[in-house]
Amino acid sequence: MNYKIALIPGDGIGPDIVKQAVKVLNAVGEKFGHSFSYVDVLMGGCATDAVGVSYPEGTAEACKACDAVLLGAVGGPKWGSDKPAQQRPETALLAIRKDLGLYANLRPATLRPALKSASPLKRETAEKGIDLMLVRELTGGIYFGKRDKYQTPDRGLEATDLMAYSEMEIERIGRRAFELARLRRGKVSSVDKANVLETSRLWRSVMHRLAEEYSDVVYEDVLVDNCAMQIVKDPGQFDVLVTENMFGDILSDEASMVTGSIGLLPSASMGDSAPALYEPIHGSAPDIAGQDKANPIATILSAAMMLRYSFHLSAEADAVERAVDAVLDAGWRTPDIAEPGVTPVGTEKMGALICAAL
Ligand code: NAD
Repeated sequence: MNYKIALIPGDGIGPDIVKQAVKVLNAVGEKFGHSFSYVDVLMGGCATDAVGVSYPEGTAEACKACDAVLLGAVGGPKWGSDKPAQQRPETALLAIRKDLGLYANLRPATLRPALKSASPLKRETAEKGIDLMLVRELTGGIYFGKRDKYQTPDRGLEATDLMAYSEMEIERIGRRAFELARLRRGKVSSVDKANVLETSRLWRSVMHRLAEEYSDVVYEDVLVDNCAMQIVKDPGQFDVLVTENMFGDILSDEASMVTGSIGLLPSASMGDSAPALYEPIHGSAPDIAGQDKANPIATILSAAMMLRYSFHLSAEADAVERAVDAVLDAGWRTPDIAEPGVTPVGTEKMGALICAAL
């Protein structure tokens, strides 16, 4: 079987880390007898430099002609907020999410066994392990609602942002969470603020309806403020967390920090029809671009998510994750995760070690 992958290396460290993920995918192909073909897609600051806009015409079509998309990262000081919108890399990120209809953002937060000491949590909490999947609604809620700013007669300026959610939007993200839980440890924790917000009360009622339908999955409601506390107190209790856009934005960063390094964490964004988009959670790290210092593991684990969720190759995905753990267990580290006294390896070497471990 041939799988066609759109590659968007992007800016900064993007090209370095995507190259390592491609090496690993090719090693998977050889080991398991699959073939992967790649289509390079220009997007981000590099596209602005080459053709004048960060999201060239035909970008979405090129991606839609593939089975999945792997993105490195886009952005950098060269294309800052002083530039017109169509030249800024962030514009391209929002556009591709919209054009591919990516409403579900999956952010696993996993503490790799060899890196327990990198977690800022108490040792006994980290020892229990962290392996949760945060499912964030990505295209609705307050970030996309109507906004306004106006003068009041007596209180100066006033601003409003509208948070709106429909049953349809809640149900489709809820189903994602329940389906994922069935593939994992069978538990969904739905995060809301139903004691205050009307949108949350609607969210909760739809989730309860789904919980009855997915009666094989254990279900709980968690208030967002309590959830923020539980993620630092006892993250091991969570399997799949599902929540709306803004809560998910904040909680996903909190969950990633408790695992240690942003250089290790992958993500996936999905819609109802292919292709899904896979990318590391970190940015383009312009401070270390082109210096063979970037950690490629988050991108390699993003490729593993692609194998699992887009191509349904779970044995292959497991093999990549095991190879990453084997290399970390053997003590190999890139500079961002090197403990004092450890001589780090570069991006290329880390990629080669993971291929060899496969
Ligand atoms: P960043 O994630 O790029 O970097 C934060 C810090 O983490 C830096 O010190 C960097 O060196 C380090 N770091 C990040 N990834 C690393 C890796 N793989 N290995 C080792 N160290 C790593 O965040 P930032 O500095 O706030 O943003 C830089 C640029 O990236 C900005 O232009 C921002 O807009 C963009 N950005 C893009 C995306 C994306 O493409 N999805 C996401 C976030 C930020």
